[in-house]
Amino acid sequence: MSLPVPSHILPTYARAPLAFESGEGAWLTTTDGQRYLDLGGGIAVASLGHAHPHLVAALAEQGAKLWHTSNLYRIPGGERLADRLVENTFADVVFFTNSGAEANEAAIKMARKYQSACGHSERFRIVTFEGAFHGRTLATIAAGGQQKYIDGFGPKVEGFDQVPFDDWAAFEAAIGPETGAVMIEPIQGEGGIRAVASERLRALRSVCDRHDLLLIFDEVQTGVGRTGAFFAHERAGVTPDIMSIAKGIGGGFPMGACLATREAAKGMTVGTHGTTFGGNPLAMAVGNAVLDVVLAPGFLDRVARAGLGLKQRLAALQDRYPGVIAEIRGDGLMMGLRCAVPNGDVVAAARHHHVLVIAAGDNVVRLLPPLTISDDEIAEAVRRLDAACADIEAHRAPGAVAAGGEAGPHRTSAVHKGAA
Ligand SMILES: *Cc1c(COP(=O)(O)O)cnc(C)c1O
Repeated sequence: MSLPVPSHILPTYARAPLAFESGEGAWLTTTDGQRYLDLGGGIAVASLGHAHPHLVAALAEQGAKLWHTSNLYRIPGGERLADRLVENTFADVVFFTNSGAEANEAAIKMARKYQSACGHSERFRIVTFEGAFHGRTLATIAAGGQQKYIDGFGPKVEGFDQVPFDDWAAFEAAIGPETGAVMIEPIQGEGGIRAVASERLRALRSVCDRHDLLLIFDEVQTGVGRTGAFFAHERAGVTPDIMSIAKGIGGGFPMGACLATREAAKGMTVGTHGTTFGGNPLAMAVGNAVLDVVLAPGFLDRVARAGLGLKQRLAALQDRYPGVIAEIRGDGLMMGLRCAVPNGDVVAAARHHHVLVIAAGDNVVRLLPPLTISDDEIAEAVRRLDAACADIEAHRAPGAVAAGGEAGPHRTSAVHKGAA
């Protein structure tokens, strides 16, 4: 299919030439009637698939009642959602936002304000890790530390010290008298599904305790069931002081939240932070509906089982195509294929077989399907990925004739790399 170039859209994305009109569960249908199996979930956002009946009903019901009142008034749906998040996590308090970047902004401001409230306003610096992604605001690009997102946007926001992902000595050396917090994704998403070992998360916790630093977990991508636990850090048996969430909690409705212990949040008093839209009744209705499903007995266990099944099938795929897939990574329904060929080739070949996957850093292809994807759909997805791998291998074989057609695996220029 060919679409006109969307010339009035700011061209910050290299979009694939696909436009969807409707969705159902793990399936998307294009404007010209083609069906695609969606293993991207709009970058881990469509956590319950497309057009989930419970979410549609919650949105429609709230939509007919009340959309927005502002945070000048109490919002019962938000109070209920906060209660439920607190009941099921380390947290005591919740601040609702519209996005992951805003949840991280709240987390960063909260950590600084905590140190200031403790009489240590000099402790404003935050240690972060290479390969991190924390969003696209000025502060969160500085926190993420990726030069390609920072260049040309003026002086980098002060106060972030980035260390290599796997270098403990560098981490300890980065902690100085001005350090106030440590911020990390338990599994890097954009960075390429790179998990932080549980022992490492525990070690971070004890270093933070020793130096009175706040530990911030960015669970914007890993949270709300993605890994088969409610939150990814649970596997390590430690808790953060502050946690940002977004993506999956809205199931497609733009929303996020910053969760914290009462102690970590003690500087955030009336007037210190705000948002016009965050936590509005529409968002809260959908967030509560997502939790109805995700926290139902057995749901997360099923995600974990589905994830294991997916991982086994992907391991078999790796065995069959070692020249295409170098490594399988991830937890639950957050899987990464580190590629032995350019990851864009795999994304394009998969798309040719009508399965949507997403490129990430470290030459990885991400699989972030709806948590509700069925075992049959997983099997079908892997069959299609198998065909995609076969195409790539045939194409790369010595003497192979360049594949004709408009959607061969070489059409990589339109692949959008790691930019959620
Ligand atoms: C997507 C993402 C963000 C940014 O979220 P936005 O809603 O795009 O602002 C932050 N952190 C992580 C780990 C993410 O995956």
